[in-house]
Amino acid sequence: AKETGKNGFQIFDEGMKHEVEEKLKIELGIRECLKNNGFELFFQPLYNTQAKRITQVEALLRVKSSALSAFNIMQIIQTAEVTGQIIDIDKWVIRSACESIQRINHYLDEPINISINISPLHIMQQDFVRNIRDIIIDTGVFPDWIELEITETSIMKSFEVNKRKLEELKRLGISIHLDDFGTGYSSLSYLNSLPIDHLKIDKSFIDAMLQSEKERKIVETIINLAHNIGLHVVAEGVEYEEQFDMLNSYNCELIQGYYISKPANFEYITRTIKQYNEE
Ligand code: C2E
Ligand code: CA
Ligand code: CA
Ligand code: CA
Repeated sequence: AKETGKNGFQIFDEGMKHEVEEKLKIELGIRECLKNNGFELFFQPLYNTQAKRITQVEALLRVKSSALSAFNIMQIIQTAEVTGQIIDIDKWVIRSACESIQRINHYLDEPINISINISPLHIMQQDFVRNIRDIIIDTGVFPDWIELEITETSIMKSFEVNKRKLEELKRLGISIHLDDFGTGYSSLSYLNSLPIDHLKIDKSFIDAMLQSEKERKIVETIINLAHNIGLHVVAEGVEYEEQFDMLNSYNCELIQGYYISKPANFEYITRTIKQYNEE
């Protein structure tokens, strides 16, 4: 219910009605896309400053069907988290990413990895680890090529249970990125006890680096902290040479952002990687 002052309470206003209708359209659109192959993956390279080549790509969900063309991917994912459809989306994404990395590596002299965003809701499911193991076996992908991106908030609930799930995945050869670092709890004590390999500094910190020395010090400190506990660092949303140079001087291992490449389809990204790595 929404408080409207002198009218007392009103259960539904026009804005809310619109919102409900949008949600329903998205829900139906997702159902349609899952059924009729309406989703596709884009890929965004991560540039390794030490190896001086692209060593991984992040898989990002996109819609090719007109059923969802009125909505952006954030709206679609948020709605899917509410309806529970995110589980089926996640499974589609993981399978498709496993197939894609086999295809991409087929064209490359040296194989790269793919990182896949995992929904918090999926991690909570009892069959989360089994889903991933099944897809790996099914597609025959080399597990060392697979990296999962999880957010801090998604593991903080049921910490011990989720920690065990991640440890199981690690034993399969999969590595784990902690995504959007700095936007959630950011409790440093648990970082050490989690089986993660990469810490991904959120774009908001990378943006802020352009503003002041103090903001740059924060990023430098996060990078040093991560290195001290044996983690690699990814900076996301790097758009300018200035940011790239600063991050490089702080020994940040992986750079992702429009400065290197926008997310793009299979053909474009394979060509981009070949240009960076093989010329
Ligand atoms: P994220 O995981 O933090 O992904 C990074 C987002 O930043 C992507 O937006 C990417 O296109 C964008 N980005 C990358 N470099 C730059 C840059 O230099 N500048 C700017 N302005 N943006 C940049 P996108 O693809 O719209 O995805 C948004 C969010 O949706 C993702 O945030 C992730 O949380 C979620 N998402 C995307 N694909 C999937 C998926 O397959 N599964 C799940 N569960 N979530 C996904
Ligand atoms: Ca991500
Ligand atoms: Ca991120
Ligand atoms: Ca983000």
